[in-house]
This record gives sequence, C-alpha cells and structure tokens, in this order.
Amino acid sequence: MDHFLYKDGTLFAEDVPVAEIAAQVGTPFYCYSTATLERHFRLFDEALEGMPHLVCYAMKAASNQAILKTLAALGAGMDVVSGGEYARAKAAGVPGDRIVFSGVGKTEEEIRAALTGGIRQFNVESEPEMREIDRVARSLGVVAPITVRVNPDVDAKTHEKIATGKSENKFGIPIAKARQVYAEAAALPGLKVVGIDVHIGSQLTELEPFELAYKKVAELTEALRADGHEITRLDLGGGLGIPYERGNTAPPLPIEYGALIKRTLGHLGCEIEIEPGRLVAGNAGILVSRVIYMKEGEGRDFMILDAAMNDLVRPAMYSAHHDIIPVVEAEAGAEQKPYDIVGPVCESGDTFAKQRNMPLTAAGDLVAFRSAGAYGAVMSSEYNTRPLIPEVLVKDDQYAVIRKRPTFDEIINRDTIPEWL
Ligand SMILES: *Cc1c(COP(=O)(O)O)cnc(C)c1O
Repeated sequence: MDHFLYKDGTLFAEDVPVAEIAAQVGTPFYCYSTATLERHFRLFDEALEGMPHLVCYAMKAASNQAILKTLAALGAGMDVVSGGEYARAKAAGVPGDRIVFSGVGKTEEEIRAALTGGIRQFNVESEPEMREIDRVARSLGVVAPITVRVNPDVDAKTHEKIATGKSENKFGIPIAKARQVYAEAAALPGLKVVGIDVHIGSQLTELEPFELAYKKVAELTEALRADGHEITRLDLGGGLGIPYERGNTAPPLPIEYGALIKRTLGHLGCEIEIEPGRLVAGNAGILVSRVIYMKEGEGRDFMILDAAMNDLVRPAMYSAHHDIIPVVEAEAGAEQKPYDIVGPVCESGDTFAKQRNMPLTAAGDLVAFRSAGAYGAVMSSEYNTRPLIPEVLVKDDQYAVIRKRPTFDEIINRDTIPEWL
C-alpha cells in the first residue's frame, strides 16, 4: 500500500497534487511519501515484535538525508556499504551503535572512519578483510565488533544481477568454511565476534529461499556456540520483494517474513537485525515525467519522455517493470493503445516499456512511474549531461525539494582544466 492515489481524477502524493509539484519543480523529478516510508518501516518493526531486534534500513536503496532522517526518527538503524553512506548516516544523526557496515570491499580508510565514529558491527565478507579490520582496530587501540557474512548457497530465485547467496556469487564466505573462519576471528585480538550475517539477494518474491538460508544459520549458530563463540546477534539481511506490477501476485508481507524469522530462529535467543531497503523505499517513491513528443514509427507509436535511463536505470539494467500511469486519470473505459515508452538518451537501451497499453496520450501530458523509490535516484547518473533530477519529499499537505536540480554551470564547473590547456 502506498499514498499515491487519484483524487478527483488527478494523482496525489498524500495530500499534494503531483501536477502542482511538477509545475513548481519542473520535470522529471522523484517524489517520495513520508507516510509510506514510515508505514513500511513500521511493518518490519512490528513483524519482529516480541524479539529483541533492530531494523537497519539498507540505505543504498534511497539515501537522501531527508529520507534517512525520517526513518532515523522512528528508531531505524542503517545498513551502509561504503564510507560515503557511513558519512551520510552520521550526518543524518544516526548514532554509530545503530549502523552496521556491509559490503565486500571495505577499505582501510572506511574501516578507520567507522571505528573512529562508532559502529555497531562490521559484516565481514572475507578472511583478508577480517585481518584488515583486526589490523586497523589494533592500530587505533580499539576492538571491532564483527559478524561474518556466510554464503548459504541457496537460490534466491531473483534476477541474476541481484542474487547474492549462491556459492558462485562474490559475497560472504562459504558456510561450510564458517567454523574455521570464526576460529581465526576469535584468535585476532582486534576483533570481537558478536554474531552471524547473511543476505541472499534482493527482490525475493517467495519465503522459501529465506527459510532455507535461516535454517542453515540456526544450525551454524548452534555449531559455533558449541565451539565456544558467543553468538548473540543474527543479521538476516534484506531482500523482501515488492509488487512492481499491480494485478500480479504480490510477494509475501513483512508480517509473514517476521513469522518465518520467529519460527526458524526465535529459539536461539539472539537479537535479530534485518536490513530491508527496497520494501521500505520502493513503493514510497514515484518518478514523474512529461511527454515531450508522440512519434509514430513503423507499426508502433513511441512516447518520448523527458526522463531517461540515466534517471531510472532499472528497466535498462535489470529488464525491470515499472507501472507507468497518467497523472490525469483516464476515464473508466477510455480507449487504450500500446506504446513504446522511451527516453531521449542515444541508445536503444533507453526504453522503459515496450508495447505498453496506456490511455491515449499527448505531448505535454504528465506520467508517473510507480515503485521508483528504491534503486532509482541513487543509481542515476548525468549521462548525456542530463542533470541529476530533483528529489521531493511530501508530508501530508506539505512538500519540499530535498535535492535540487543542478544547473549546467554547476555540472560543468565540477571539471577542472589542466594548466597546459
Ligand atoms: C542491498 C542489500 C540489502 C537490501 O536489499 P533490499 O532488497 O533492498 O531489501 C541489505 N543488505 C545488504 C548486505 C545488501 O547488500
């Protein structure tokens, strides 16, 4: 459920007409709903009620400072995957003891920054990284709390680019090797083992892969405890999918996911951490764009938008589907027609949808891409020197630009000219 609904025939973000924002801010732009962000965070928080837990929002999904502050105010922790994200989380006022650090290639600088600024735990992804964290911690005279990310070798049944829990993926250490790696971790004086981490992929639409993975984590917890390790925390990653296509079967709900966690891991008495990103932000954001031209091709009609693959790369990169709806609601029973919906960028990959049925559309009309809040703005680029588009946050009947569109001069002046030119 989200808060982008038609009222009186026009699309609203909460209590603000989307067309009003478009007139103020210009298109294209991202628009997020505070109520939807909050609702989705709370669904996870409530799903784990009765177990000690922390919901660490995977901020790579959407990392604007205003979004982070909105979630931090509800008690969210953050899952960060880079020094930049760590700095963003701290700048949004998230205390270090609510930040977990994931990612396969943490650098010495990133490790040092997190140890200095405070960190709940590092999720270690390899033995060399583990030794590096130990070395940096000792050089600072501190002890680094860690979990080891295990790769349970389960098929997440999602797009290959976002599956992370198979043995051929670069993530984590093979679960069969875990006892050996924990034995080494225990012997390193700069580290304190606090738990186990697992994250098997993104946009999972079934619970079964989670269940397989979490059962393996339960077994490993018992084995590591028998080896003498204190396992008090289980970080279960993110990955619960969202419904991108209205009218299709929906993925499991957070409450069902929470019940699965209780069933598979509840008996262990561990504190549970989860790292949802997409489900918190995905349906809390839309991308609003204007039709520049309608073009008749050979046997097909093209709808050319002012948004492009550099603004929302998911269709080009993952063949992802986004529902695209007119901002002015079509009348019931209005004529529809198939369109190829494309952006202006100079490659054929810049196609959002092929032969998509839409109500008859004209140049100048506004359209909205649903479910664009996660992995949208954060993955955008300035390819073709198209400025990063604004982000807008709505709360009830208020809205604010939370990242403005840069001017061409601002973009150009980021380049510097060597003195020989
Ligand atoms: C990307 C990522 C997440 C979030 O995944 P979603 O599918 O957005 O919930 C969580 N944890 C880690 C380690 C990740 O890399």
